[in-house]
Amino acid sequence: MAERVLVTGGAGYIGSHACKALARAGYLPVAFDNLSTGWDAAVKWGPLVRGDLMDRATIDAALSEHRPVAVMHFAALSLVADSMRDPARYWRINVGSALNLFQACAAAAVRNIVLSSTCATYGDQDGVLLTEETPQRPINAYGGSKLAVERLLADMGAAHGLAHVIFRYFNVAGADPEGEIGEQHTPETHLVPLMLEAVAGKRPALTVFGTDYPTRDGTCVRDYVHVADLAEAHVLGLRHLLEGRGNGVFCLGTGHGFSVREVIDASRAVTNREVPVVMGARRPGDAAALVSSSRRAIEELGWEPKRSTLRQMIGDAWAWSQKPGYPG
Ligand code: UDP
Repeated sequence: MAERVLVTGGAGYIGSHACKALARAGYLPVAFDNLSTGWDAAVKWGPLVRGDLMDRATIDAALSEHRPVAVMHFAALSLVADSMRDPARYWRINVGSALNLFQACAAAAVRNIVLSSTCATYGDQDGVLLTEETPQRPINAYGGSKLAVERLLADMGAAHGLAHVIFRYFNVAGADPEGEIGEQHTPETHLVPLMLEAVAGKRPALTVFGTDYPTRDGTCVRDYVHVADLAEAHVLGLRHLLEGRGNGVFCLGTGHGFSVREVIDASRAVTNREVPVVMGARRPGDAAALVSSSRRAIEELGWEPKRSTLRQMIGDAWAWSQKPGYPG
């Protein structure tokens, strides 16, 4: 019988890709999701437990029914601008749900945890290449709440013997190369899908948030990583834990940053169509540049971010955007 992994947020964008990667690696992913932003139809490789992490009893029941070898914790509120408008909600839900989950894991002796964290924990750092050792100084409530969750896991891990891998994601883009799942948010706020909606005429234009940043062309620079590469890293992180190699923190980016204008240029090359663009004001909470070193993940986990070119990410997202999408 396949070993089970409980995947919180398993019906969401990144969580569903992780479920596919886990299934391909021989595990049975059990998605735990309240479907607030996820999709029933994205859960294809194992059961869905419909539950909310703010409700401890539901987590206890899922752990006792499925007896997973590990938990992957993706479920969280994750929008920078939203977190600036309603910080209390981000702190309450992101920290509260992690607290419930880690306590439930300790009580059920589920001793391996893979945590989704974010480059938003770094804040604005003058364009330096960010590593796992770079001091974290978040400038938005999303990043602040996720940094708190990292610390919570470190403290609870030490106290209760919870081995953990923390992944700090940079900007995730693209879709399943086989077209089975992809990115779908309501409302959509992310650059690549919004840009492709503008290309397809589904929205009038893409608004570029800020053209006066201290970057090479004035627009924000981000390190984009393909969702399928990110999902693979989770399987490697899981193996790292199951082989008893100890706790780890890993940045998941490519070492290369692209400006918003460069992403737009790349999309022209992929789709052969113009992107209708309007230049707009900065979005509160955005750092000028966030670019990661990926050395540690490559060297210690054997990670190969092989799909993370702009062409491949935009190409896979474009193919997905031309499908009907999830019902519901
Ligand atoms: N961005 C933009 N217009 C949009 C959405 C995003 O110019 O409609 C920019 C945003 O300022 C950031 C980058 O694109 O620099 C990536 O933003 P996204 O929301 O995709 O991810 P985040 O960096 O917030 O995780």
